[in-house]
Amino acid sequence: MRYSLFSVLGQALRGQRDWTPQWRDAAPQEAYDVVIVGGGGHGLATAYYLAKEHGLTNVAVLEKSHIGSGNVGRNTTIVRSNYGLPGNIPFYERSMKLWEGLEQDINYNAMVSQRGVLNLYHSDAQRDAYARRGNAMRLAGIDAELLDREGVRRLVPFIDFDNARFPVKGGLLQRRGGTVRHDAVAWGYARAASDRGVDIVQNCAVTGIRRENGRVTGVETSRGFIRAGKVALSVAGSSSLLAGMVDMRLPIESHVLQAFVSEGVKPLIDGVMTFGAGHFYVSQSDKGGLVFGGDIDGYNSYASRGNLHTIEDVMEGGMALWPGLGRLRLLRHWGGIMDMSMDGSPIIDRTDIGGLYLNAGWCYGGFKATPAAGFCFAHLIARDEPHADARAYRLDRFATGHLIDEKGMGAQPNLH
Ligand SMILES: Cc1cc2nc3c(=O)[nH]c(=O)nc-3n(C[C@H](O)[C@H](O)[C@H](O)COP(=O)(O)OP(=O)(O)OC[C@H]3O[C@@H](n4cnc5c(N)ncnc54)[C@H](O)[C@@H]3O)c2cc1C
Repeated sequence: MRYSLFSVLGQALRGQRDWTPQWRDAAPQEAYDVVIVGGGGHGLATAYYLAKEHGLTNVAVLEKSHIGSGNVGRNTTIVRSNYGLPGNIPFYERSMKLWEGLEQDINYNAMVSQRGVLNLYHSDAQRDAYARRGNAMRLAGIDAELLDREGVRRLVPFIDFDNARFPVKGGLLQRRGGTVRHDAVAWGYARAASDRGVDIVQNCAVTGIRRENGRVTGVETSRGFIRAGKVALSVAGSSSLLAGMVDMRLPIESHVLQAFVSEGVKPLIDGVMTFGAGHFYVSQSDKGGLVFGGDIDGYNSYASRGNLHTIEDVMEGGMALWPGLGRLRLLRHWGGIMDMSMDGSPIIDRTDIGGLYLNAGWCYGGFKATPAAGFCFAHLIARDEPHADARAYRLDRFATGHLIDEKGMGAQPNLH
């Protein structure tokens, strides 16, 4: 069923009775050309681009729970392409361009909202770093504006500019950045992939990966063995667990990241704002709740829930920047398991095992990467060679030393 103004009006006249399920709830077949493990945003996007760009449709996405139950449905929905390092710039800009055409491409309202992303700076040194990043972006044809204090004041007059410890001196603005409705991304890609013949198999946990003569032959699952020509891991926070099934140790730690939503209020903030002196970021959802977050909890965990010390830390950051926040009530908060790599950048690569591919290490920023990760991972799986925009995301960079340390934090996964 194609979605359009006419289909919405037609359904309204018929009492909304004829909507069909958005995707086929497929039962697993005996064998597939490609099995993608993980029905998050990345796994579903990979399946879609495998079908669309490479004509591969004998593909299954195996999800241990339901579609959207992982980080794709738990993130704070921010998308941007304001990166400064050569390995990252083309990849994230590809993602931004794919976001810009996504709704037309998959015929789904993902509420792509280019409301702008503003990173605040609080010192001369930070201004210089942001100026350098903005220049690198502009040289690559990406929009970036360095704002002074008055430029920031015009956008967010309510923040504490004169906080003695963290005075706001300006910001780097990417107007094309913004937010996208995260659940709709999962549902939209699932529907579009399913329409092209991909099997979306929910409640199907992969429990083992079979190998013969150095090559994968299939996966053991909670619903039986499934043969596969190629197996693509796209399980975000569970990456180390899946890699452990083939005795691989990844340069990844799993940590909890929490997110928060306040009670709904009238429009307060138009775009996304980040606090440059601590880790705090905020935007406002269309329902009116302020959506915000900060640092990971700082210890390894596979629990999708966080602890009070981080809640206090995030609130302190928020209050230092925007004291008015203290008048709001917190409505809900939750956690997701993050795959933190050692240099803060992702991995999209083959492994040493024939037919086994890895997409992992997304840290804080994997949602914005969803379209490009799917696009480039599909290219790698179909052609067995990396896509030019993801060439830097090799697994062996941790052995060769070609790290992509965008934040300049060193090999400290809890700091990226
Ligand atoms: C609180 C929070 C806020 C965030 N905010 C942002 C943001 O604003 N912007 C941004 O760019 N990024 C953000 N992120 C990061 C982003 O959400 C993730 O990097 C990204 O969603 C990861 O890719 P995914 O969608 O494929 O992951 P997931 O949705 O987690 O998909 C992985 C799937 O694999 C499944 N799986 C695991 N093990 C198995 C198994 N054995 N068998 C079968 N299936 C399995 C899981 O159930 C899960 O559904 C945030 C993350 C969190 C937690």
